[in-house]
Amino acid sequence: MSGTSEGPAATVVQVAVQTPAHAALGDLLSYLAPAALPPGTLVRVPLGRREVLGVVWEPAAAASEEPGSDALLPALRPVAAVLDGLAPLPAAWRDLVDFTARYYQRSRGEVALAALPPQLRDLDATQLARRLKRQAARPAAAPGAATDLPPEPSAEQAAVLAAVVQEAGPFLLFGSTGSGKTEVYLRAVADALAADGAAQALVMVPEINLTPQLEARFRARFAPLYGEDAVVAMHSGMTPPQRLAAWLAAHLGRARIVLGTRMAVFAALPRLALIVVDEEHDPSYKQQEGARYSARDLAVWRGRREGAKVLLGSATPSLESWHSSRPPEGEDPGGRYRRLAMPSRIGEGALPRVRLVDMTRQPGGTVLSPPLLEAIGERVARGEQSMVFLNRRGYAPVLACADCGWKSECPHCSAFRVFHKIDRTLRCHHCGFTERVPRACPACGNPDIAPVGRGTERLEEHLAELFAGVARPDGTPVRVARIDADSTRHEGALERQLAEVHAGDVDVLVGTQMIAKGHDFRRITLVAAANPDSALFSSDFRAPERLFSLLMQSAGRAGRDSAWLAAQGSTAEMWIQTHHPQHPLFDALRRHDYPAFAARQLAERQAAGMPPFSFQALLRADARTQEAAQAFLQAASSAAESLPEAARVMRYPPVPLAVQRVANVERAQMLVESDSRAALQRLLAGWQPLLHALRRTPEGKGIIRWLVDVDPQSI
Ligand code: ADP
Ligand code: ZN
Ligand code: ZN
Repeated sequence: MSGTSEGPAATVVQVAVQTPAHAALGDLLSYLAPAALPPGTLVRVPLGRREVLGVVWEPAAAASEEPGSDALLPALRPVAAVLDGLAPLPAAWRDLVDFTARYYQRSRGEVALAALPPQLRDLDATQLARRLKRQAARPAAAPGAATDLPPEPSAEQAAVLAAVVQEAGPFLLFGSTGSGKTEVYLRAVADALAADGAAQALVMVPEINLTPQLEARFRARFAPLYGEDAVVAMHSGMTPPQRLAAWLAAHLGRARIVLGTRMAVFAALPRLALIVVDEEHDPSYKQQEGARYSARDLAVWRGRREGAKVLLGSATPSLESWHSSRPPEGEDPGGRYRRLAMPSRIGEGALPRVRLVDMTRQPGGTVLSPPLLEAIGERVARGEQSMVFLNRRGYAPVLACADCGWKSECPHCSAFRVFHKIDRTLRCHHCGFTERVPRACPACGNPDIAPVGRGTERLEEHLAELFAGVARPDGTPVRVARIDADSTRHEGALERQLAEVHAGDVDVLVGTQMIAKGHDFRRITLVAAANPDSALFSSDFRAPERLFSLLMQSAGRAGRDSAWLAAQGSTAEMWIQTHHPQHPLFDALRRHDYPAFAARQLAERQAAGMPPFSFQALLRADARTQEAAQAFLQAASSAAESLPEAARVMRYPPVPLAVQRVANVERAQMLVESDSRAALQRLLAGWQPLLHALRRTPEGKGIIRWLVDVDPQSI
């Protein structure tokens, strides 16, 4: 570590620092350093009145060598400290940051600093040195005895693994739910690590709640080979010291396997050999603030840059990846990805039979239809588990007064506050505004205000009432449980609740999509979607794709243990209650035919010129009034007229967001679209300075913020 305040500073270095998103400051800032610092070096530099963490970027500019340029130097401030105990961040990592910043229209400093563990920002050179010493002092844990005997790969698994070893990829593993994709990931990682004594692998999952079970499986498999320290996790649920330790382990090469959520795509991994993206279709891979990157897309980019293999996996791939992995046909040379398929479930298990309940034939207001209840009851009596999901948490989405028409609107948002019966609150799921439920209608005083519609809390209550008299095979009463964002708010709650399900203590599980994904439940034989209809007619063109994959995923939770199912003399079922049983989406679902569904969706998208046949970005503006937000977008649209790419990029009229007002901020957006990704990118780059300039004009006055979302996932 070297303090640098003494002695004459000789060289100018460019440093990436976290500057406010739309500050007028340039992308990189110049500082004086005593000597040239290698790019990627971490430094502490003054910024305003603070001292902040920065990363040295370009090689030092030649300015100080030019005669007569000395006059410029006094204006620059010196680097405060060089954190030279740590190896510089590699060029590949900086390239990833450069690309992300450029592609998603943000500054390099913002992307770089957001990609580093937060605690690193607060450490001075001495503190960092201490952390590094602690890392180095940890004895490399000795490999132990194998605790997890890998199963013999199925023929389909073996074929996929052979292709991954022999070919370059990127690969799209299209594998049914229960086909053993996780086992493929484990073996692909094992192959990569065995091939090179220093190789590292990155494995990403969409949700934090899927990391514990994944970590357990990877640990069981790899700790015996490479030691406990070889596997680290990276996600936002970890404490700052845990995140720093994991990050350092990866950067120093001690960690051979990093498991994490989307943020892990930026992990510093000097010897990256393989990237796995599980459930690659999942919208959670898209960051929704700051640089709105897609970790899936960055994984593919990073893999190419670093010569690492990339394996994307899903039972219902995104239409983008499906299209990119189409085999060559006729004139079409095919996509850039190699598609690998595993259509069969392990153990010859059949996928669940899909049963549609036509809700138009049920009495109005029916929550769970009699045949579904009967089916659940039969399973309870046989000691099997059922799962009912509903994508709406809370007790009821609205509380209303029948006398005067009052509804539990949020005063700050264009949305209703949700009634949570457990703590008798009305909560806004957009801005968080929470109040106790009023005793009587706030408008007319009527004491009979009533919940309208249903959320998971109410469904849980309803099921518990209905099954109150039913007994399990051992004579004990039925147990209904719920898992959603509310039930799992406390640390460790989710693990506890999942453990109860796995232990067989729960007969009927109610929940949101949180329980529909990824979990390897062994005793669930019936899954039901209580009310999936709203997604059928959403204005977002991706809604059918999302619904299809959610229903396929949910179905995938049923009957995962085929031997047990056979011993029970039972079969797995997926029930769907809908008012639109004729919808073609359900037809494909009934046949578990993702390719047919995808083919129809892609044909529609192609005809309409929508992604993946076009490329989109959203310009969003937030303001005090909707008029101001839209006026800014309109002015932005006019400004874009002057750009050379304007003719190749379609600009749609500004519209309010679906939830137009949140926390008293009005939101509007404008879609821009092109059949050329490059043209869209050039337009966005040329637009940036114009948008900054616009903020200083009358149209920019009322704007609170604006942002660009490239490849937006919801429109
Ligand atoms: P997916 O991720 O494709 O839904 P999993 O990887 O969870 O499927 O595998 C489903 C189940 O099959 C798991 O319990 C897993 O341990 C088991 N399994 C996977 N591969 C094999 C195999 N080759 N032989 C026996 N069991 C396997
Ligand atoms: Zn009233
Ligand atoms: Zn609100």
